[in-house]
Amino acid sequence: MTPKQKPKVAFFSFTCCEGCQLQVLSCEDELVDILSLVDIVNFREAIDEKRDDYDIAFVEGSISRPHEIEDIKKIREKAKIIVALGACSSTGGLNCLKNRFPMEDVKKIVYGEKSKYYKYFDTIPARPIDAVIPVDYYIYGCPIPKQEFLNVVKSLLLGKKPEIPNHPVCVDCKMAGNICVFEKGKTCVGPVTRAGCDAICVTYGCVCWGCRGLVDNPNNEAHEETLKRYGLTVDGVLRSFDLYGSWHKYGGKV
Ligand code: SF4
Ligand code: SF4
Ligand code: SF4
Repeated sequence: MTPKQKPKVAFFSFTCCEGCQLQVLSCEDELVDILSLVDIVNFREAIDEKRDDYDIAFVEGSISRPHEIEDIKKIREKAKIIVALGACSSTGGLNCLKNRFPMEDVKKIVYGEKSKYYKYFDTIPARPIDAVIPVDYYIYGCPIPKQEFLNVVKSLLLGKKPEIPNHPVCVDCKMAGNICVFEKGKTCVGPVTRAGCDAICVTYGCVCWGCRGLVDNPNNEAHEETLKRYGLTVDGVLRSFDLYGSWHKYGGKV
């Protein structure tokens, strides 16, 4: 790329709800600036153009169908930088829940009577994209925080390594002035989950379900001590990790 060329950027979507791409599109105030700095050559949710000559690929969604394995490998061959966009892509996310149950049961639960038509679609156990290809950077969350996306774009344009928070959600939660949900008799996986979301779920009355995945070196002992202090056990809260963390919890195997 010469200094005058703008980097070419593409967005791709695999198995997911496309909510993370919507987060990108909702960066309304900043999109004009981004568009002046990059050429977007592929972004199904936003433009008709579909070019294959991209430098940076943002990839949303898990891999859960045979053809997706081939598709993501082709993207890897073409892109200089691949960024996993959101929980489905970076940790497997909600999609990996289906891996824990017999496929026939999953089809019936989701599609009921109509599940018989599902035989026309091939499906495989869901997995994060780095179970198939090497990934350069990750933007976590379900959905991704807009500001984190903007920070990553800025770093990549400056040729810097994006900085993604690697401390627990509890830090964000304290800074937000929340009362810990353990005080209210609830459980929460914030002590071992990667921050960067301002603990938004706790702030709005819920608990942290770990959508941003584990911090790199989770302090399991501190989490265990917290649980003990509130009369809880590790086994008792392990199920809380099933929602977003089942891929890694069950050993990252399919
Ligand atoms: S991470 Fe969440 S919001 Fe993003 S695509 Fe997956 S399910 Fe949708
Ligand atoms: S355990 Fe949950 S509610 Fe308590 S401080 Fe940590 S993130 Fe907040
Ligand atoms: S509080 Fe937990 S579940 Fe909610 S956005 Fe943050 S990491 Fe995700």
